[in-house]
Amino acid sequence: MDYQSRPTIAEVSLANLQHNYQILQAHVAPAKLMCVLKAEAYGHGLIPVAQALAAVNADYLGVAIAEEGLQLRRAGIKTPILVFGGLSLNQIDIYLDQDLTFTAPSDEKLLAINQRAKERGMTAKVHLKIDTGMGRLGVNWQRVDKLIDALNHCSHVVTEGIYSHFSQAENNEAYTKQQLQRFKQVIEQLQQAGYPISIQHIANSAGILAGKENHLTMIRPGLLLYGIFPSLAQLDVLDLKPVLSWKTHVVYFKTLTTQESVGYGATWQPENDFERVVTLPLGYADGFGQSTSQMSVIIRGKSYKVVGKICMDQCMVSLGQEGTAYNNDEVILIGKQDSAEIRVEQIAAQQKLCPHEILTRISARVPRVYV
Ligand SMILES: *Cc1c(COP(=O)(O)O)cnc(C)c1O
Repeated sequence: MDYQSRPTIAEVSLANLQHNYQILQAHVAPAKLMCVLKAEAYGHGLIPVAQALAAVNADYLGVAIAEEGLQLRRAGIKTPILVFGGLSLNQIDIYLDQDLTFTAPSDEKLLAINQRAKERGMTAKVHLKIDTGMGRLGVNWQRVDKLIDALNHCSHVVTEGIYSHFSQAENNEAYTKQQLQRFKQVIEQLQQAGYPISIQHIANSAGILAGKENHLTMIRPGLLLYGIFPSLAQLDVLDLKPVLSWKTHVVYFKTLTTQESVGYGATWQPENDFERVVTLPLGYADGFGQSTSQMSVIIRGKSYKVVGKICMDQCMVSLGQEGTAYNNDEVILIGKQDSAEIRVEQIAAQQKLCPHEILTRISARVPRVYV
């Protein structure tokens, strides 16, 4: 199906993406970058984003699941790829066939990787995962003895990297420092056991901004790469540019009286007669809020509120008694128009979500247009 003529689009600037890559590279040098491309590159489109990053010689890519790695390889991407997920044992062959780097989250899984690689006469590239306080995946930082034991039995594994993950780098300095300290202790312990590991990484976007000490030899930016800051408190501390703009057009215009209402449940009525209301051709099925979300949009350089419940495929916006809009006028949902701007960080704060959720909700029905 062809959605390209749809008036609702997510415009993706690959030039801004490459700009952000270069700003981050300069900010953390000599540390390297693992660009995080999971979930369709945070909704920007997996393959075009990977290609744009390959064009600037990105060091490493990170994805959540093996299937994303497979998709990248099928598109001809040669850059090293780490899969973050916990490894399902039935997928080991996909990693070996596609030259994907394994996450080893336990000694048992490390041994399973080694076993299969040995059977196939191959060597598996592995990054060990250490849990320093996220409580999600990885060998507990206090229990690496068994991991070292396992490594002693792994002749078909190369431990290229080791990593951990911050759980609150945007707002808890003490906890973040403690996680880093635990991670360094584990690296030291492995080194002393005869396993020096050169690629060491722990910093997501919030961790990157929290301090240079978190950069180690590699960083793992997701949000920052797309020009989004983890929280309003950290806004614009680097010269990054938002990569994605989300736009639609006005499809319908009317005026309402105080006797009339808007949307399912008739939850909104004008306060005055002659209230001007426009309808937009997108709704929550496109990832635009939820039925009850309080969203804003920009039309003709001015910000207006969505009124009534957002429908699956449509929503209504009040222009008050003064605002003007015509059919086919451009409407900004994320991005800039004249001096007005709606940022992902603001929507996230207002909806009490993280910026990641706002981006990954923009559904597949919204065509991505690359500029
Ligand atoms: C998603 C993810 C990141 C990137 O996080 P951002 O907050 O978007 O920078 C880094 N590392 C891992 C393991 C992740 O899953």
